[in-house]
Order: sequence, then structure tokens, then C-alpha cells
Amino acid sequence: MAAIMIDGKAVSGRLRQEMTAEVAAMKAAGITPGLGVVLVGEDPASQVYVRNKMRACEELGIHSQDYRLPGDTTAEALLELIRELNCREDIHGILVQLPLPAQIREEAVIAAIAPEKDVDAFHAKNVGKIVQGNYDFLPCTPAGVLELIRSTGISVAGKECVVVGRSNIVGKPMAMLMLHENATVTICHSRTQSLPEMTRRGDILIVAIGKGKYITGDMVKPGAVVIDVGMNRDENGKLCGDVDFASVEPVAGYLTPVPGGVGPMTITMLMRNTITAARLARKACP
Ligand code: NDP
Repeated sequence: MAAIMIDGKAVSGRLRQEMTAEVAAMKAAGITPGLGVVLVGEDPASQVYVRNKMRACEELGIHSQDYRLPGDTTAEALLELIRELNCREDIHGILVQLPLPAQIREEAVIAAIAPEKDVDAFHAKNVGKIVQGNYDFLPCTPAGVLELIRSTGISVAGKECVVVGRSNIVGKPMAMLMLHENATVTICHSRTQSLPEMTRRGDILIVAIGKGKYITGDMVKPGAVVIDVGMNRDENGKLCGDVDFASVEPVAGYLTPVPGGVGPMTITMLMRNTITAARLARKACP
């Protein structure tokens, strides 16, 4: 039997509808959530991401402001802008689009963002809170994946969850969230021996490795929930995931397509974090 498709666009659309109502209510109470988006350089993919994030803000009624700096911007100039945004009352969330040009250290920039405005949840303070299970923000992609899994109605507690990939942005926080959901979690990476044996154990298999069509049907447990985070171009330049859709679809129970799976959720979760940041700022006011 073919896998049931998990429709990221539909789940994201439902959440955005709820958030639009939430933002309208906040505005009526005198708070307009605001997001500052910083882009350094002219990377075409980053320009598209920034445009999509600003468009989502507009759609939901969130105030957004973009700051475009030239590719030869110094680290000090960028840090100065972040310090300014940290103090701005109308900007509740700060997003610095990664990657940054080589002369700027990403870690220094992430560390400079006020943790309560860190809507990407990359700051060490927020990462620590996530590990402790006591967080305000979740990183956007793992949070989106969790929503997609919830949308299947399948309970995670007690299930074997295999996460392939251990990046700070996706794999590691993803594994932590699944642990908080009471899954038994295995994290695989490029040094993992016998990857197919590992992935076949997953009732829930989450793949974020950045290698097109790498996970094939023989690596998947029949009936598993398979979440494909990957975004790659295939040999014909077509967008594809890390999962080989053709061979996995007949084996999995649920599967996210690429495009239309995890992708639409990431920006939606950024919107949620911006709303949360605005609420926290209001609470922090005397
Ligand atoms: P990274 O390159 O930072 O990390 C990749 C991870 O995959 C590493 O931990 C690496 O292991 C592991 N890996 C690489 N090759 C293998 C292999 N053959 N077997 C097992 N593990 C392997 O990538 P990201 O986490 O940033 O992104 C992963 C994918 O997700 C990319 O395609 C990216 O475009 C996509 N993405 C999609 C988003 C969305 O919104 N849909 C958002 C973010 C990312 P090791 O640590 O040992 O090197």
C-alpha cells in the first residue's frame, strides 16, 4: 500500500490561519509583533528565503523590516546593527539569514542576538533551554517536523525514532524534541556504521543529510513515518529530498513530499516564534 502523504502546505495553512487571528487580537490589544530580517551579501538562495519570510509576515499581519548589507560588511558593522535591533521596542524577533560571508563568524553573530529575540533559537542560552525541556522558542525546522508528525495523529511516546543528520540547526535539536516527546531516539551521521540497519529500526525516520535521494525503500521499516527534511537538486535540476520518493513511498506508512512537506513549515514556525517573542516582551514590561 502506498504511503499517506503528509501535506506540509495544508498543515502550514491551518496554523497560519490561527496565527493570523492571534496577531489580529494582539494588535487590538496594542502589540504588533515585529521581525527584523538581516541579509548580508547577494546570495540568490538567501534572497529568496528572505523574500518568503517577509511575505509570510505580511500575510499574517506581522511587522517586518529588512536590513540589507553589502557582502564586504565587517563583523563589527553587523554586530552594531544587531545591538541596535536588540534595543528596538518594535522589533521582537531578529533573524540573520545564514550563511554569512567568510569574514564574519556566525557564532559571534548568533551570540550577539538578545536570547529573547532569537527567533531561530540558535543562541547557546536557547539551545540550553531546549536541552532542559524548558524553552520559549524551538528551532523552526525541527518544530515544523514535530507539527507534521502530530498531524498524522500517531503517538510518538515509546516509538523508535531514528534521526539521520546531527547538524546544530536540524539533527541535534530534532533528536532532543523527539526525546522530550518520549521517543527512543537514535542519531545517525556520516560515521555511522550499517546505516540501513539503523534506519530500518525507525518507526519514525527523520532524514536531514543534504544528499539527494539517499534513503531508499530497503532502508525503511514498513509502515514507518518518514520525514524528509532535505532540499537538493537532482540530476535534472529538479528539487528533491534526501529520501528516494519512488522506492520509499510503497514501503512507508506516511511520507512528506519535497517540495510541499517540511519546507512550508519552517517559515510558519518562524512566524510562531516571532509572535511568542512579542508576547514575552509584553510580559517583561512593567
Ligand atoms: P548539514 O550539512 O549541516 O548536516 C548534514 C548532516 O548529515 C551531518 O550531521 C552529516 O554527518 C550527516 N550526513 C551527511 N552524509 C551522511 C551520510 N551519508 N550518512 C549519514 N549521515 C550523513 O545539513 P543541515 O542539517 O543544515 O541540512 C540537511 C538538509 O536539510 C539539507 O538538504 C538542507 O538543505 C535541508 N534543510 C531544509 C530545511 C527546510 O526548511 N526544509 C531547513 C534546513 C535544512 P557528520 O556530522 O558526520 O558530518
